[in-house]
Amino acid sequence: MIVTRFAPSPTGYLHIGGLRTALYSYLYARANGGKFLLRIEDTDLKRNSEEATIAIREAFEWCGLDYDGEVEYQSKRFDIYAKFVQKLLDEGKAYKCYMSKEELDALRTEQEARKERPKYDGRYRDFKGTPPAGIEPVIRIKAPRAGEIAFKDGIKGDVKFNVADILDDFIIARSDGTPTYNFVVVVDDALMGVTHVIRGDDHLSNTPKQIVLYEALGFKIPEFFHVAMINGEDGKKLSKRHGATDVMEYKRMGYLPEALLNFLVRLGWSHGDDEIFGMADMLKYFDPHDINKSASTYNAQKLDWLNAHYIKTLPYERLARDMLEFDVDFKAHKKGELLLNILRERSKTLIDMKNAALAIINAPQSYDEKAYEKFITPDSLEILAKFKEVLTLNLDANGYETLTNEFLAQNDLKLKDLAQALRVSLTGSSVSPSIFEVLEVLGSDEIKNRIEKILKERK
Ligand code: GLU
Repeated sequence: MIVTRFAPSPTGYLHIGGLRTALYSYLYARANGGKFLLRIEDTDLKRNSEEATIAIREAFEWCGLDYDGEVEYQSKRFDIYAKFVQKLLDEGKAYKCYMSKEELDALRTEQEARKERPKYDGRYRDFKGTPPAGIEPVIRIKAPRAGEIAFKDGIKGDVKFNVADILDDFIIARSDGTPTYNFVVVVDDALMGVTHVIRGDDHLSNTPKQIVLYEALGFKIPEFFHVAMINGEDGKKLSKRHGATDVMEYKRMGYLPEALLNFLVRLGWSHGDDEIFGMADMLKYFDPHDINKSASTYNAQKLDWLNAHYIKTLPYERLARDMLEFDVDFKAHKKGELLLNILRERSKTLIDMKNAALAIINAPQSYDEKAYEKFITPDSLEILAKFKEVLTLNLDANGYETLTNEFLAQNDLKLKDLAQALRVSLTGSSVSPSIFEVLEVLGSDEIKNRIEKILKERK
């Protein structure tokens, strides 16, 4: 069975880069009847793990990703780690190192003077003597001293590290007994039964160390997939400078989770020239072995384009529910469905939809100055006053169109003589969806009220 995991360090919010690796891990597990697990890497106890879990849970819920079983917290697993450190000590695969900070510093200075890579020289590796007094030892792994560490990365292919260049007998437990990062990741991935580790390639340099630990502990090495980073449009690693990185910030900005997931799955993976991937398509086509080798570039326009696509195509009920969070209740409006359907054609975000909806639902409090100046003239006000008189019944958009055309013909007018002035009087600006649909949404009484208002307030 395929078991994947997402293992964030608590940062207080879920980063979109993190959501992408979570999505990849999720898809691979779900598409294959496997398991997708969540582990919070909170060994740095100063950080609040509960808060991070809440933030991740909230973002996962919004995106519709779910994980199996209980969340694992590394901070609750110290006893387990201690047991495995002891096991390695007992088996002679790890040892206590009593080097003081001063000695380490001196070694480093010598190595730097010789232009060598600073590394621990293994002086306590086979130490049998009496430990120096007053020093709490660290525990170091007996790492290989020569040769290569090679593995087949599911994305990058064959990866090789020269031991002499990257390894030393690195620390697995500090002098206060706390285990180090690579050690706990390996113990957890092994005990959680993780078969496929999909993570950012900023972790690539940890992998040879982790492989050393898998071997020492006698655990099966999982398959690794190191996903290239997401860059901003300037080619630098994506950061807050480029825009939002907090997943929930996208929600607040009016993006749909479908759009964000579609955007993220395509950032780093493709299937032919296809751009639109709903969850069902992702589950059908996604394979982590097809993830791109090179870094991807964040493209804000693409996200907007996808968001517009999902706003156009998701069911009314669904969008109406999401719009409640933006304080627009389409269902409370008698023409709510029509209104949403006309607005979805021209909204890039739910915030766009909110603004456009409120401009129609609420009578204008003020008028756009430029539009007012251009379109509200003594002549157009007179036309509006006359038009008001022909409004009796509530009609649908076609009915209003016929009525309007008759009115224009009888008064020897063109649509342009009426349409913009009518838009300004109804919505406060000259930009709105099809005027006849707006008329249908408002109904004749409300249209008359708004025309009367602009007539009354004439400057
Ligand atoms: N906790 C690490 C991070 O947030 C991920 C570790 C891993 O995936 O192996 O970057």
